[in-house]
Amino acid sequence: MRYLKLYLFLCFIFFQATTNAQRFNNVTIETINVAEHIYMLIGAGGNIGVSIGNDGIFIIDDQFAPLTPKIEAAIKKLSDKNITFLVNTHHHGDHTGGNANMSKLGATLIAHDNVRHRLETTPRRDNTMQPKDALPVITFNDELSIHINDEKIMVFHTEHAHTDGDALLYFTKSNVLHTGDTYFNGRYPYIDLNSGGSVNGYINAVKEGLKVIDDDTKIIPGHGSLSNKTEYENFLEMLEDIKTQIMAEISAGKTEEDVASNNTITKTYDDLNYGTGFINSEKIRRTFYKSLKNN
Ligand SMILES: [Zn+2]
Repeated sequence: MRYLKLYLFLCFIFFQATTNAQRFNNVTIETINVAEHIYMLIGAGGNIGVSIGNDGIFIIDDQFAPLTPKIEAAIKKLSDKNITFLVNTHHHGDHTGGNANMSKLGATLIAHDNVRHRLETTPRRDNTMQPKDALPVITFNDELSIHINDEKIMVFHTEHAHTDGDALLYFTKSNVLHTGDTYFNGRYPYIDLNSGGSVNGYINAVKEGLKVIDDDTKIIPGHGSLSNKTEYENFLEMLEDIKTQIMAEISAGKTEEDVASNNTITKTYDDLNYGTGFINSEKIRRTFYKSLKNN
């Protein structure tokens, strides 16, 4: 019996490992030209931003470790220069999974202080700790400017938004904004309340992003397709509308379960398929309730 259990356990581990590997085997990296020398790479996990030029390759986020060879191959098609700098928009594994691999390829890792802290102190899914190579070596608490490929890139932190370590990046000459996960295009966002995220901080992050852009800005969201100011404004409107409604429910003494079962709050956006991604409509109502109730 004991051996049978062990056998079943090993089968389970093997099955998990294979499905994981297969999941990434089937991923292809799509490259989109966003501006003259700026690209967006779509694979599995957070959208990657790439700047190419004479100074080298600068990238934003790196998805999952098993995808690094595919990501590297996609970048090689754009430029034969080395990857010099990499900014993590936050600590989540679908944005930082390739960090150690990218370090080995020569990238200097940059992120908000809390991203390094979380990567350094949180065990990974398999209970191991991150290798040293995966940790950002340059960290900042508020904002940072990177001068590369003939333009200045503004990197700025917004407090308690998607997590407690978010950064947005604005390419001042190319007029491109990378929002990290402070923007999910056309979907309900994941707001990670357990990692310092909050509804009010999230809404504020979108407002901060809107401040630096204009009608012609191209926006690379953390998840979803390449976007623009109008869609970004619609996203803000959705967040503010849901916030207003949930605040009213809280004032009326409603419980989290009341709100969770009340489809009318999110109906407008459910009808636009906002709830078909990682976060469905019940989850977004619960997140808003939990975060706003604690204010
Ligand atoms: Zn995230």
